[in-house]
Amino acid sequence: MTRLMEWWPTHIGKVVTSEQLREIAGIQEHARRIRELRQNYGWEIDSYRSHEDLKPNEYRLAKQPPKAGVRFSSGISAKLRAQVIARNGSICQLCGLAAGELYEDGSRVTLHVDHIQPRSAGGSDEMSNLRTLCHRCNEGAKSSLTPPPQTLRQLKALVRNANRETQKAIYDFLVHKFEGGK
Ligand SMILES: [Zn+2]
Repeated sequence: MTRLMEWWPTHIGKVVTSEQLREIAGIQEHARRIRELRQNYGWEIDSYRSHEDLKPNEYRLAKQPPKAGVRFSSGISAKLRAQVIARNGSICQLCGLAAGELYEDGSRVTLHVDHIQPRSAGGSDEMSNLRTLCHRCNEGAKSSLTPPPQTLRQLKALVRNANRETQKAIYDFLVHKFEGGK
């Protein structure tokens, strides 16, 4: 990863192939590394998905990447990001899974800090407009407004993540439901 991060910025604007990337960094999973550079370090890497002039195995670093650790692709500072994650208890605010937990398919949950009202719609970088989302919900939130299906585990996580007043209201509701007849 380090070698890649040193080498690539010396080739800004040039088309590189996945074979080259593998050679330089000795990486097996170059697709994952590229995703990390984009998501965790804010690098703008072009691919065939966004650029018609590129082939599926070709990539291009569009411009000088941001300094590591200072800003992320979402544009908020590392400090603010850490504050949001701490406030949200490292839990996805939609599905309730925690960072490092596993999805049903065994892949690991990573958290992102999301703008509730998008920047493009005038949303601010205030804490009140930021929340943690796992990468799946983050992608879902962008592509549609349909909430993810609620499994028991997800519901429990939501309750665990709620404030005491809400938890008490849920508790009262359940007590009433199960012992209401007594
Ligand atoms: Zn989620």
